[in-house]
Amino acid sequence: MDNCIFCKIVNGDSPASIIFEDQTCVVFMDIQPVNTGHALVIPKIHAASLSELDPEIGGHLFQAAQRTAQAIRRSQMRCEGINLFLADGEAAGQDVFHVHLHVIPRYSGDGFGFNFSDRYWQKPSRDELYTSAKIIIAGFVEQQPAVEALWRAYTASLPEGVRPPDSYDVWSFGDTEKMADELGQLVQAGIKTATCSLLWEYEVEGDEDMPKGGDVSVITDGQGAPLCVIETVEVEVTPFGQVDEAFAYDEGEGDRSLEYWRSAHWKFFTRMCGSIGREPVETMPLVCERFRVVFPN
Ligand code: 5GP
Ligand code: ZN
Repeated sequence: MDNCIFCKIVNGDSPASIIFEDQTCVVFMDIQPVNTGHALVIPKIHAASLSELDPEIGGHLFQAAQRTAQAIRRSQMRCEGINLFLADGEAAGQDVFHVHLHVIPRYSGDGFGFNFSDRYWQKPSRDELYTSAKIIIAGFVEQQPAVEALWRAYTASLPEGVRPPDSYDVWSFGDTEKMADELGQLVQAGIKTATCSLLWEYEVEGDEDMPKGGDVSVITDGQGAPLCVIETVEVEVTPFGQVDEAFAYDEGEGDRSLEYWRSAHWKFFTRMCGSIGREPVETMPLVCERFRVVFPN
C-alpha cells in the first residue's frame, strides 16, 4: 500500500527503530509510547484489519509479541508487567490501518489504564451472558466445518436442477442452552413445526432479520452443533392473546395445549421484553412462523 505509513516502515522508506524482524513481521518502537519501551508488532504484508489478516500470520504476530514481551522483561527497561493491545476498527481506537499489536511495558503508578463505563459495575445475569454467547456463537458456527458440512449435505440432496439458496441463517431455539437442546430435539423429531418471536425485537435489531417464507436455516443445539436444516413456510404477525390452539399444537411443547403454550410463552416473552425494556401485554405482536425440516428427511 503506497500511502500506508507501516508499509513504508516495512519497505525501509520511513525511519523506525526496529528491534526484531523475520520473514513475516517487524517489531519497532512506537513513535508515541504509552510507556518507554512500547513496541508495535506488524505483519510485513499489508492488512488493514483483522478480517483481512490471514489467521496464520495473526498467530505469528502473537508469537512475536510474546517474544518481545519476554525480551522487554529480561532487559533493563522499566517493566513490572505487560499489556498486549490491538485496536481493530476506528471505534476500537485504531488510528493506523495496517494491523499492529501493541506490546506495552507496565509498572505500578504509570498512569495508564482502561476506562470503564457505569455499565461495567452491574454484572449481567447468567441468562444475559447466555444470550451474548448465543449471538456470538452464531458468528462462529457459520465458520464451523460441521455447519458447513451439514449445509453441503443438504444442497447435495436437492434434486437436479433445483438451485440451492444463496444464503442461510444459523440459529438455535429459545434463550437458554437447555431450551435450545430441548426444542431442537422436538424439531428433529418432527413434533415442533412452528415458532414465534417478539416483533418488537426486530424493531430494535432491524427489519431485515424478520423471517419470511422460503428462508432456510441451519438449526443448532445450545452448543452450536448443527441439528437440521429448516425452511420457513409461512409467517404471520399475531397478538399474543390471539394465538390459537392449532398454532400452540404445532409449537409442539409440553402437552401441546393452548394453556401450556400461553403459560410457557408468557414467561419467555417476559424475559424477552425485559431485555428491550418493555412490559409484556396480551396485545404484544408475535411473529408466528411455520416451518418444515428439509434436511435430513
Ligand atoms: P492505534 O491507535 O492504531 O492502535 O496505534 C497506532 C500507533 O502507531 C500509535 O501508538 C502511534 O503512536 C503509532 N504510530 C503512528 N505513526 C507512527 C510512525 O510513523 N512510526 C511509529 N514508529 N509509530 C507510529
Ligand atoms: Zn500497510
